[in-house]
Amino acid sequence: RAELIVVGTGYRAVGDLTLEAKACIEQADVVLCLIGDPMVTGFLERLNPSVRTLDGFYAAGKPRTASYEEMVRDILAEVRRDKLVCCALYGHPGVFAYVGHEAVRRARLEGTPARMLAASSAEDWLFADMGLDPGTCGCQSFEATDFLLRRRIFDPTSLLVLWQAGVIGMADRDPGFDHRPGAGLLTERLIAAYGRDHEATVYEASPYVVTPPRISPVPLAKLPDVPMSAGSTLVVPPLPARPADPEVTARLRATCS
Ligand code: SAM
Repeated sequence: RAELIVVGTGYRAVGDLTLEAKACIEQADVVLCLIGDPMVTGFLERLNPSVRTLDGFYAAGKPRTASYEEMVRDILAEVRRDKLVCCALYGHPGVFAYVGHEAVRRARLEGTPARMLAASSAEDWLFADMGLDPGTCGCQSFEATDFLLRRRIFDPTSLLVLWQAGVIGMADRDPGFDHRPGAGLLTERLIAAYGRDHEATVYEASPYVVTPPRISPVPLAKLPDVPMSAGSTLVVPPLPARPADPEVTARLRATCS
């Protein structure tokens, strides 16, 4: 019976849960979750009374990597008890989310069947809420701290999405974290590519139908002045497209005619 299924609960409270994810939760022997929204956790408890949250592994001042490692070990310990374990994470369980991927990887290494189901991520919601189509000019997604540290190469004529932009450089769980120094560094990097007046948007998806998402436009020069949290994603729209390459255009014409 031992099996691990990692599912996502998306962002819209309850409404984002797919029928398949709901069935997995209902059928599991044990459900471990990391959701952050008590309403969604309560809903999962009604689907399956075995629900236990992994929130307790977080602690102020504790490195997030240590919390994640303990969560993975906890999930694996349940799997080793020969249980059908469902791990439910908010958003898409495999997007900017270490725990789900690592638990699946280790379960498979131990010979236990393990799989992940797709779900709505923050990026899926921002495409919908902000009317953006990644097919128009491409879309680049980076983790904001990694974007700065590795000097990621990006194309400013394509949409840029920066995750964890409100917690740049935060290694420990810190409720009083000051986002401004990191936002200042990000501002410098972005202004060099887009100019001071280019308008970015701080985006926060809403969990409830009755509450609108946060869509706060801000000129890049003022980015450190706007509030950002652990749930903020920064969206930088593209500069005007560069002209099509004449050589490629000519070769395509030749091959397609
Ligand atoms: N697995 C999640 C997903 O599929 O969207 C992402 C988890 S990642 C650890 C946390 C980051 O997701 C945040 O720093 C932020 O960039 C984004 N995020 C979380 N909640 C959000 C929200 N309500 N609106 C927009 N972005 C959000």
